[in-house]
Amino acid sequence: MLTVLAGGVGAARFLRGLLRVVPPERVTAVVNVGDDVTLHGLRICPDLDSITYTLAGLVHPVQQWGRADERFTVRDELTRLGDAPWFTLGDRDLALHLHRTGRLAAGATLSAVTADVARAHGLGLTLLPVTDDPVTTRIRTVDGRDLHFQEWWVRERAGADVAAVTFAGADAATPAPGVVEALATAEAVLVAPSNPVVSIGPVLAVPGVTAALAATPAPVVGVSPVIGGRVVRGMADRLLPAVGAVTSAAGVARWYGARRDGGLLDGWVIDTADAADLAELADLPLRTAATDTLMDDPDVAAALARTCLAVAGVTP
Ligand code: GDP
Ligand code: CA
Repeated sequence: MLTVLAGGVGAARFLRGLLRVVPPERVTAVVNVGDDVTLHGLRICPDLDSITYTLAGLVHPVQQWGRADERFTVRDELTRLGDAPWFTLGDRDLALHLHRTGRLAAGATLSAVTADVARAHGLGLTLLPVTDDPVTTRIRTVDGRDLHFQEWWVRERAGADVAAVTFAGADAATPAPGVVEALATAEAVLVAPSNPVVSIGPVLAVPGVTAALAATPAPVVGVSPVIGGRVVRGMADRLLPAVGAVTSAAGVARWYGARRDGGLLDGWVIDTADAADLAELADLPLRTAATDTLMDDPDVAAALARTCLAVAGVTP
């Protein structure tokens, strides 16, 4: 089993490449839930849905979340009612949210609903939320406010400077069924090029996950979300400084740390644009490689997945 630690868009693009290289039955994604939020009474799981829609070929090709073929009748009606919805859910997307919210209200776990939704979309990989318990990424702003991640990112468009990031509920959370096993029995663990702070961070914050990663005999190989010293998209560059990390391919590797020094990684794959960073990493016990990592083209994503497997010493 190849187990991938995953956020949303970066992870979805990486998984699309990996699934061109290995059969889906060999892939498990352990997905962030820290961005999940309840609005209009609906449970919204952006990272799980970005992955599902991308792998099912339904994702909006430009924004890379939500559905390609979408209408906004409900949003427009809410606006007419004076609701000013700041988080856009299209009509088709709403069906998934109604389904999930109804199942959860009837007592199903998030992991059970996620598995069924993945199957309904024809996906063959195993998609696991890291936990079935509520874990919420909170942003403490420099101006002294405590915001849900989505309030800071979507409602306020990351306007406020960040003092600290916390994961409410993480201490009391337990890994979802299958998560610890997927790490313990993996051939390799791959860390997707996802936001280190708010995508991989909440996954690592669930008690038991870090211990399982430390103990697994599998190599742990990550991909840099930084290309040419910049985040490709998203707001990792607004958050990395708040956790004391440098926004560079070497900076993120150093923040994750080498497993032999008590950190996360055995291997680190960076973009050729950052090849100079390899010298900065020479003192860390890491296997490294530099290759094309901009995954706009699924063939590039597939080649990147092959490089990750080579660094991990795993045959495709
Ligand atoms: P989100 O939850 O939708 O924000 O998605 P993720 O956390 O999975 O991914 C966001 C991160 O992915 C950002 O830091 C991006 O820089 C990175 N990313 C997105 N696309 C690519 C890509 O094609 N290549 C690489 N190397 N990183 C990417
Ligand atoms: Ca996300």
